[in-house]
Amino acid sequence: MDNLWQHTCGETFNATSLTCSHTTEVLVIGGGFTGCSAALKAAELGADVTLLEAETIGHGGSGRNVGLANAGLWLPPDDVCNAMGQVTGARLNHVLAGGPDQVFAMIAKHDIQCDATRNGTLHLAHSAKGVEQLKARLTQFKQQGAPVTMLDQLETRKRTGSDLFYAALHDRRAGTIQPLAYAKGLARAATAAGVKLYENTAVLGLENTGEQWIATTADGTVKANSLLLATNAYHAHFKTLNLPTTSTVHYFQIATEPLTPQQLQTILPGREGAWDTALIMTSFRLDAAGRLLIGGMGAGGAVHSNWAKRKLAKMFPSLVRTEISHCWSGRISMTADHLPRIMKLAPNSYSIFGYSGRGISPGTVFGTATAQAILNSDPAGLPVPVCEDYSEWSPGLKSVFYEAGASAVHFSGAR
Ligand SMILES: Cc1cc2nc3c(=O)[nH]c(=O)nc-3n(C[C@H](O)[C@H](O)[C@H](O)COP(=O)(O)OP(=O)(O)OC[C@H]3O[C@@H](n4cnc5c(N)ncnc54)[C@H](O)[C@@H]3O)c2cc1C
Repeated sequence: MDNLWQHTCGETFNATSLTCSHTTEVLVIGGGFTGCSAALKAAELGADVTLLEAETIGHGGSGRNVGLANAGLWLPPDDVCNAMGQVTGARLNHVLAGGPDQVFAMIAKHDIQCDATRNGTLHLAHSAKGVEQLKARLTQFKQQGAPVTMLDQLETRKRTGSDLFYAALHDRRAGTIQPLAYAKGLARAATAAGVKLYENTAVLGLENTGEQWIATTADGTVKANSLLLATNAYHAHFKTLNLPTTSTVHYFQIATEPLTPQQLQTILPGREGAWDTALIMTSFRLDAAGRLLIGGMGAGGAVHSNWAKRKLAKMFPSLVRTEISHCWSGRISMTADHLPRIMKLAPNSYSIFGYSGRGISPGTVFGTATAQAILNSDPAGLPVPVCEDYSEWSPGLKSVFYEAGASAVHFSGAR
């Protein structure tokens, strides 16, 4: 009952571990969407690049997520402007509105076998209040010129196969992917572009001499002029580098056995990815084989998986006896204001973290832009202003609070 994506991955990339010492121009640590797209871009721009991944490509959030390649952040556009200021916020909104275009272009360019389906996503109102939230989002997206449409209850029922929702916002910019395959495909493209990529190579120590970075692994060292630390919620193993921490939100998913052709005629017949407006949200989508995936906040375990089975039956009564074949979870790096950060570690060296649950398109956009900033020695084109430091009040306590909240809701929910 493990991660479905490991079993349905159309990309077979793998790499050896580092067993020697060498010098490189740009060192990328972390093999998720951010690290792989940055390494790929830097190599395309002519740099000598090394990427070190502690486990295998996509071990972190990139190989565990729902696979909704959405436009923008989880926050609505106006909230982004309120938090960052009008000019900076509008710029980030604009850049991320084009995020799915960048993801799907990357998939096409490198022929990545990740079941890419661009039929849009459905943001579903779980209550009357949720309808009001969607109307506010609709207005804000329309101001951006985004191709979004509000669907009434009847149309929402037709598109989802469930009568649990009041309305939906259909965003045609978005789509679904097999996320692990997308990460591995980026790694394959990066390697083809000349990146020296090593798996099962945890960076244990990182030192900045003022002239260069020295990364130490179990069997080698890498010296580099510039660094991108792309370890996000999976930052681990380092004995000599403590980054500012963000809160951690766990998110889990279950997958059914493939649905029957008859069930697939009514359940998400348009193959959109879906999630709802609840604070402790629910997501669901089909995979290429017609399995239904349902996800929610929480680290997994009986309370959460029992809730997911009840929720499945509530949303789709015809699936009450459908077998569950996979169950897995992952960690999300959540900042206090739900905005991602690019933090300067030294000149031309950055750490990117805190996508707060929206990292497929943003990871691709931020990784690519940061590679350009490093090679141009100019951070002006980055999607967010670079910060020198980051701190938030008691992230550990907030993480416990998120998990307790999700457990409480799931213990009593969908009964
Ligand atoms: C369950 C779940 C569902 C989600 N759903 C969605 C979704 O539908 N849509 C969306 O847009 N976003 C979603 N997200 C968020 C998205 O998956 C992440 O924001 C994104 O994957 C982050 O990518 P990344 O490359 O920055 O980090 P990661 O993919 O986490 O990669 C970090 C990598 O760094 C490596 N690493 C750590 N320490 C070291 C070290 N010392 N040395 C070497 N390597 C190291 C790790 O092994 C890991 O592979 C979801 C996240 C989760 C967990």
